Amino acid sequence: MKTALITGSSRGIGKAIALAFADAGYGIVLNGRTPSAELQETHRQISEKKVPCLALAGDVGDALFCERMFAETQRQLGSVDVLVNNAGISHIGLLQDLTPQQWDRLLRTNLSSAFYCCRLAIPSMVARQSGCILNISSVWGVYGASCEAAYSASKGGLNALTRALAKELAPSGIRVNAIACGAIDTDMNRFLDAEERGALLEEIPAGRMGDPREVAALALQLAQAPDYLTGQIIQIDGGWI
Ligand code: NAD
Repeated sequence: MKTALITGSSRGIGKAIALAFADAGYGIVLNGRTPSAELQETHRQISEKKVPCLALAGDVGDALFCERMFAETQRQLGSVDVLVNNAGISHIGLLQDLTPQQWDRLLRTNLSSAFYCCRLAIPSMVARQSGCILNISSVWGVYGASCEAAYSASKGGLNALTRALAKELAPSGIRVNAIACGAIDTDMNRFLDAEERGALLEEIPAGRMGDPREVAALALQLAQAPDYLTGQIIQIDGGWI
């Protein structure tokens, strides 16, 4: 049985990805920043699917926690076949009002976390000459968004990491791709009031936000894609950007 480790999978896009991989028969490692009721509920839903499931709460922006998470995964489920770097936070506001502490937290959560997890996942993937890394990115990492400069920088970094690491790991049979999401209907967008949400929907040719299950379906397809597909930043945005 293959194992998929999905960071930030207590809810939202990460949860949908975990459910899709569980349906495909993968053993699942769940993660959320805190041992929340949401994480426990996701663990219950995956366990019902009769696949092994671990829920490891902690901050993936902390390199030491990532080491503990991979050690526990190795102990209970073996090596990671698919790593999905999904955990992320957003910050809306002018760059000049952002504190260095907020910048550091955002970059650690959205970008350093991917480095911490990749460096722990890669050695066993190289040994087996196979593996798949998926980075959950954003259209803002490609195009930039006003009042989301730090977030855009973190996702732009994730996209560059994807392209560079794909080249580094292709000789070892490991694929690295990113999914650049448009507006997906999760808690991350709950801050929008009805008027803002309406204005956003008017801009999106598809006329609606994406469903987390659509991102999950794409993630599973990428994990099962031909070996030659690597280094891509694939947009899923309803034709928005
Ligand atoms: P969400 O807020 O619903 O879920 C975020 C998840 O990440 C939660 O499980 C949370 O516990 C976890 N998380 C946050 N900080 C963490 C940390 N330090 N350590 C471990 N886990 C942490 O958000 P979502 O919309 O599901 O977003 C998932 C990913 O998709 C993020 O990387 C986000 O940037 C990206 N994305 C989302 C959208 C969107 O419109 N929702 C658009 C583009 C990209």
